Amino acid sequence: MADRSLLGEMRQIQLAIELIELGARLQVLETETSLSRGRLIKLYKEIHGVSPPKGMLPFSTDWFVTWLPNIHSSLFYNIYESLSLLGTETRMATMVKAYRLYLEQVSMLEDREPVLGLTRAWTLVRFFQSGMMQLSVCRRCGGRFVAHAHSIDHDYVCGICQPPSRAGKTRKAAQRAKRT
Ligand SMILES: [Zn+2]
Repeated sequence: MADRSLLGEMRQIQLAIELIELGARLQVLETETSLSRGRLIKLYKEIHGVSPPKGMLPFSTDWFVTWLPNIHSSLFYNIYESLSLLGTETRMATMVKAYRLYLEQVSMLEDREPVLGLTRAWTLVRFFQSGMMQLSVCRRCGGRFVAHAHSIDHDYVCGICQPPSRAGKTRKAAQRAKRT
């Protein structure tokens, strides 16, 4: 972050552009790059043609454990984790790559709706880093799913194996998500 060279700055701008294109909120950009708020806003406007939305980031861990968001978050986080185990790239590069792979997976589903936005994905990674989330193993399918840290999970059944009754239509899509 302290890299003040021209090349360093270009890398920062490149990262910011990539994040903005993927839908990052301003707070993500401010945290992850050393560019000034003014320049980030300008970049954002150039890319999206509008000012960045104001307001706080979603800070609750609860969203990630609701049914459909949980399936998407788990898909993303499993990708992120396996990429970061390779340890070849920075955390942000890994995150961006994992997010792109997540989008690719979702585009093959019936609904094609990326429920997990980039800002949420970024927040999720931070929640894991600060020990607020864990991966619980479903006792039926063996898949690993995002859960609150310290949840008692020896009897855990995931939202794909046991969808809520309202899930009906999206169930098939979720099952396909699991297979990929
Ligand atoms: Zn399961």
